[in-house]
Amino acid sequence: MTASSITPASGAGHALGLAALESALADVPFYQNWRDRDPGPRSPIARRYAALPILTKRDMRVQMPKGFIPRERDFRAGIESGAIELVTTSGTSDDRATIVWHQPWWDASEHAAARLHAGLDRVIDGSQREAVLTTPLCAGNVCHIGDLSMAERTMGRLLFLNQKPDPTYWTSGDMERILDELNRFAPELLEADPAYLAILARHAANKGIAVQAPRFISLTFEFPSRLHYRQIRRLFPRTPILSSYGSTETGHVFTECERGHFHLNADYCRVDLQPLRARHGAPSIGRMLVTTLQNPWVSLLRFDVGDLGGLAAAPCPCGRGGLTLESIEGRTRDLTFTPDGDAVTLGAVDRSLGDIEGLLTYRIEQHDRERYRFLFVAEPGAEETVASAAGARLSALYGPSARLTTQKESAIVAEQSGKFRLARTLFAWDPETLFEQERNRP
Ligand SMILES: [Zn+2]
Repeated sequence: MTASSITPASGAGHALGLAALESALADVPFYQNWRDRDPGPRSPIARRYAALPILTKRDMRVQMPKGFIPRERDFRAGIESGAIELVTTSGTSDDRATIVWHQPWWDASEHAAARLHAGLDRVIDGSQREAVLTTPLCAGNVCHIGDLSMAERTMGRLLFLNQKPDPTYWTSGDMERILDELNRFAPELLEADPAYLAILARHAANKGIAVQAPRFISLTFEFPSRLHYRQIRRLFPRTPILSSYGSTETGHVFTECERGHFHLNADYCRVDLQPLRARHGAPSIGRMLVTTLQNPWVSLLRFDVGDLGGLAAAPCPCGRGGLTLESIEGRTRDLTFTPDGDAVTLGAVDRSLGDIEGLLTYRIEQHDRERYRFLFVAEPGAEETVASAAGARLSALYGPSARLTTQKESAIVAEQSGKFRLARTLFAWDPETLFEQERNRP
């Protein structure tokens, strides 16, 4: 199945998608200039969506808030009554945007998404005790950098564990404080950046520190590598670990089910996958264009969240239907290329390297068309075998003309945003040339 062949099923999702499209085009200022592109109500909904442009982060920065609020809503009254607030998203300065936040919609999206993994909705019920382990800059406007007591970082049922912008610089004391607080707070849900939790889990496992397991671990904020899962498993061998995909702008979009597939949170968003061009040899992989549903205050249509997903080739054995991804493939900006110019997703890099014994973390950097540098951190004593295994895997991935150097590191630090970068190019390229043009489809 290719990404372009996906048409969301009829039923509730179809009706909500239609309502979102028609009300945005009719009532939301930003989309006024999109109306001419709509082939109209006689056309199938998939064709109507595909005919529209893509909403970019830049559009959001320039036109938020008023461009995206329906005309009948009064922005100032909404702020004054507390129905909405303005929240700044995380990310690099280029990515950062101020968006309109409507808490009841966020909560509803979160509850619905929790139904996509068995038993999770019994934990995420709005009153769950939840510990959050991520960059202290990440959670909207919340900032917990510096020395704050546990009480100062506890907001009702929520505990924010981390106080440093890059976990590479955690001391043993920092990590043992976090582990101790986890034991004292005893959260039902641990929501974590996978890279952060992997570092913590490694420390606890190496030191033999026991930690009371939460009922669920939800990985979010950045791409979860196979290496992260493996390291987290050392500390929490039996706790269900799932990846939850979403963003501040879009709410909860996909939830990883107990069988490892990603199911769409179909009452709160619609996703169109714009596939990579056929030459890249991955027809089931596309960039996610997210439309938010049922949010009375903000209307996002075909928002390019900047990430790629891979469609499942067959229905998920868990029995849930609807749009299903086999994998989240990482950010578009983390694509690298073979010397022939074929796109290689971070997901593909990670599948290639993820089971190398002794590999702790890595980054692949592509310097030009055929030169690549592989930076890695390995368990003490495993450096040689890791370097040789990774070299062989990466040669198979990028092809025989790739020129690869490997470099052992003691640590690989996070970017300024607090997120790690597992793959990147050091030259400029235009992402718009990579994807099929939906408009030209029959
Ligand atoms: Zn499933």
